[in-house]
Amino acid sequence: MKTNMVQQSRDEPDQPVSSDEFKAALQKYEGQTNRDRLARAVDAVWPVVTEVNGDAVRPRQQVAETDIGNCVDETAGFAWMPSYREHQRRVVIDVLEILYIEDKDVCLLSSPTGSGKSLLLNATARVVNSLVNRRAFTSTPLNSLIDQMDDDEFLDDIITVKGRNNYQCIHPSDSGTPVDEAICQTESDFDCRYKDQPHTSGGCPYYGRVYAGQTNSNVVTNLSYLMANSMIPSEVDAGFSERELMLVDEIQSVEDFALLFVGFTVGEHNVPVDWDRVPNMPGKRADQETVIEWIENDLLRVVTEQMEELSAKEETGMMASKEKEQLDDLRRFNQKVANFLGDVREHEWAMTHDMIGGKRKIEFEPITVGRFLHGYLWSQSHKIVCSSATIPPSFTEEVGLDSMDVGRVDVPSTFPNKRRPVITSEAVGKMTMSERDKTIPKMADQIGRIADVWAGHKGIVHCNSYKIAERLYDRLPNDVQRRTQLQDGDDREGSLASWVDQDPDESSRYRDGGGQLFLSVGMAEGVSLDHDQSRFNIIAKAPYEYLGDDRVSCRVNDRGEFKWYVSKMLIDVMQASGRTMRAKDDWCATYILDKSAVDGIHRNTDVLEGWFKESVDVELSDDVPWPE
Ligand code: SF4
Repeated sequence: MKTNMVQQSRDEPDQPVSSDEFKAALQKYEGQTNRDRLARAVDAVWPVVTEVNGDAVRPRQQVAETDIGNCVDETAGFAWMPSYREHQRRVVIDVLEILYIEDKDVCLLSSPTGSGKSLLLNATARVVNSLVNRRAFTSTPLNSLIDQMDDDEFLDDIITVKGRNNYQCIHPSDSGTPVDEAICQTESDFDCRYKDQPHTSGGCPYYGRVYAGQTNSNVVTNLSYLMANSMIPSEVDAGFSERELMLVDEIQSVEDFALLFVGFTVGEHNVPVDWDRVPNMPGKRADQETVIEWIENDLLRVVTEQMEELSAKEETGMMASKEKEQLDDLRRFNQKVANFLGDVREHEWAMTHDMIGGKRKIEFEPITVGRFLHGYLWSQSHKIVCSSATIPPSFTEEVGLDSMDVGRVDVPSTFPNKRRPVITSEAVGKMTMSERDKTIPKMADQIGRIADVWAGHKGIVHCNSYKIAERLYDRLPNDVQRRTQLQDGDDREGSLASWVDQDPDESSRYRDGGGQLFLSVGMAEGVSLDHDQSRFNIIAKAPYEYLGDDRVSCRVNDRGEFKWYVSKMLIDVMQASGRTMRAKDDWCATYILDKSAVDGIHRNTDVLEGWFKESVDVELSDDVPWPE
């Protein structure tokens, strides 16, 4: 088979680093112990420096190395020194000590907002690169975090890479087209002169990045990209080989990402084949065994035939971009089904019948995902750092790291707890299906009272679903309703941004107009509302997973995994409480109004992170102008 001309073979994989090799490399630094020497190694690469007799802070690369002190213990004779926030230096040393002195495979880094995680992770990778010349992947679920890292002047040694659709072709024949639809994707013999040129010197914005990234010490990608990288055969496309270190931030989302990769849907809207050729899909009452037989014997036959037809076209080099897309979708589907068929005889999968656009569909999801993550993620590095503000107790088991040797570093919050109280005494009732009708009016009144107390300040309400958000909006007292904006499901970020820009007194009779309250859905993570952008947080509904979902129901009702169910909810609550406390001098209050969430907090303190626990029902700080 001919292969696409836009190819790069993979880079050489990193050889694993033994603890002895690492310790030997450390000897170049002075110190009585390995920990002393590690401290000096961290100082030598820390990306931020500060003036010895002044306040100026600069990226390290803007200052001559000879002007920078060798370590924080030496100032004499130097104009600049490595500059750390509280805990940062100690934490990087702890992480490296766990991985390379204690020789563990994995380090869990529980690190709340404000700990400067991007710098911590970056410095860990820099030390490994400077001492033993090995490379790292850094990964996070959110593209917005990748963009932040790209813009961060202190992180000058990274190369960020997102999916192909995020970049535009620069070849004159197809300039401006997204890379995944560009001419090199559809014409197999298209030879592009920009593909093997770094993006920084006029090369392809995507392939040039991958090309430059292959030799770079730290490639930053999103989780989907890194998981997809594990499936790219070296002869088919550009990709990255195994590296020494993988640093994954916001690791609490990894289970959801794995589900997206492993789960699949069967239906006319999801599998692009000629459905007239497919024998009838089994009915709604068909058991899993019957559906599996139909997939194996009937559906896969048509999928294979159609893939062969399209592959033959691909070989001619003349393929429409739609056909290329179809072939890619079929290959992905085929791979997921093969994965499923190899697994389902040994492990439980949830099967859900549903409808979309008047057509039936059947969804498959594994009940647990840990066993898949080795192949998709962990096998791409020798050592792993998993970082989050919220790491649940059963985390290693959930994500398939329980057979590895795991250490943990906990970073205390630098934000005073009395400036970020979590108030549980204002709860009004439960928001379970059976009690919701009764609770909604009380909940809306309570939100109205809180909005009045905080008049002149902005606040976000976490509603968990658009239906609940709308019902609360409809029941709010009239004057509060006019100061309230309802999140637009078709433009989530846009509606949040327009609310953030509004004055808290802004009043409107339209749902997209008010400036004080924002009734949000799915904003517990990835949102930063600093200082006056939001002074209070309201949790109106405990964000429990949907029990109507077969997978969730199997774990909770059949397997009795109630702790997992509560942990998922509490992680969301903790994440939500962090949206409005973004700096040491910030202040805000979080109200938990759903009694189920309050009960979950009080009965499961072992699941709570220390930084959250210390803020629950804490006395308020005297130096904050709390509303009366
Ligand atoms: S510049 Fe365009 S044609 Fe060339 S490799 Fe990139 S996307 Fe493909």
